[in-house]
Amino acid sequence: MATAGKVIKCRAAVAWEPTAPLMMEEIEVAPPQEGEIRIKVVATGVCHTDLYHLFEGKDKRGFPTVLGHEGAGVVESVGPGVTDFKPGDKVIPLFLSQCGECKFCKCPKTNLCDRNWSSKYHDIMSDPTTRFTCRDQPILQFMGTSTFSEYTVINQIAVAKIDDDAPLERVCLLGCGISTGYGAAVNTAGVTPGSVCAVFGLGAVGLAAVMGCKNAGASRIFAVDINEQKFEKAKVFGATDFLNPKAYNKPISEVLAEMTNGGVDFSLECVGNTEVMRTALESCVKGWGVSVLVGWTDVKDFSARPIQLISGKTWKGSLFGGFKSKDSVPNLVCDYMNGKIKLDEFITHKMSLEQVNDAINLMKTGQCIRCILNISK
Ligand code: NAD
Ligand code: ZN
Repeated sequence: MATAGKVIKCRAAVAWEPTAPLMMEEIEVAPPQEGEIRIKVVATGVCHTDLYHLFEGKDKRGFPTVLGHEGAGVVESVGPGVTDFKPGDKVIPLFLSQCGECKFCKCPKTNLCDRNWSSKYHDIMSDPTTRFTCRDQPILQFMGTSTFSEYTVINQIAVAKIDDDAPLERVCLLGCGISTGYGAAVNTAGVTPGSVCAVFGLGAVGLAAVMGCKNAGASRIFAVDINEQKFEKAKVFGATDFLNPKAYNKPISEVLAEMTNGGVDFSLECVGNTEVMRTALESCVKGWGVSVLVGWTDVKDFSARPIQLISGKTWKGSLFGGFKSKDSVPNLVCDYMNGKIKLDEFITHKMSLEQVNDAINLMKTGQCIRCILNISK
């Protein structure tokens, strides 16, 4: 490659400050260092966690940054010591690494690699050891990935090599939302055949959770959202009942308890709202109900009455669906290609990188499930 070893100048959408629109800029992307891979990004989804950082978390120390963490691309060049990847390989960047060596990677109980950016830089949601500069300033790499850019540099522990035939403009969704929701149901909740489930929030994450419940054999899946336009899609993924909490004059947990003789076996919160987290827990049946937090928020505490847990319910959380990232993403790509999981049905819009602010607006106003940005050919 003519660009190997050189700084690449390319287009990226830079978030200079919280809440402001992203700006299209020319950035410089340094060559990959020891153990790193430079990737030409082909396509990326826009996930609510990008919006969270911009509009809800708003931690000024996490800016300027290049957002985007749900991408797919092709290896442009590799740094010293990289043997498992070569230029031309199709890859998915991982916001959660898998070094394979830390005590967490070695333990089958968790996917929380200790070498991930989040172990040290959780507060700013970014990796400050960035390879990006713009206007002579370092630009942070959001969630260690930054896919709203034509090129990015990522440590090999956070890159998954995938099938050569995989369509990048679809499998990019496995870099975050779909793996997250699907895994939260099949791995973290451990949905069982014949069980009754409720999914709160029907964005891509929630719809993927519905798909996970269905694939795990749930007999009834309640889809809960305040935006009724989401119900039609939820049906496609296997939801059987549809509830808008705003349409009832009592708590939706009571409605669910009445409809299920005491509450659901599994509930998944896919909104990122502490009130909904509480409601999801309260919607579970006593004795064995399991509620999983999937929605992302770190701006305030949550609360619940202790009796909820004393009565035998379990409250858990899930990052990246509990999947060990590097091992699982290539398999999930195969699952899609073999028809075991759906991806196409999540895609409602396609745009260019220049239209990223429109894509963000679509999500903010609840008009899309996933908008794919085509970054380069
Ligand atoms: P999205 O914005 O597309 O979907 C959120 C849905 O929640 C929308 O349909 C919205 O109408 C609905 N909603 C809002 N308020 C509600 C309420 N009070 N009750 C019921 N439904 C309500 O977002 P997304 O991309 O699907 O992401 C969902 C959440 O998952 C976000 O919080 C995101 O940050 C988080 N997330 C977590 C992980 C993880 O690893 N844990 C990974 C990716 C995303
Ligand atoms: Zn995401």
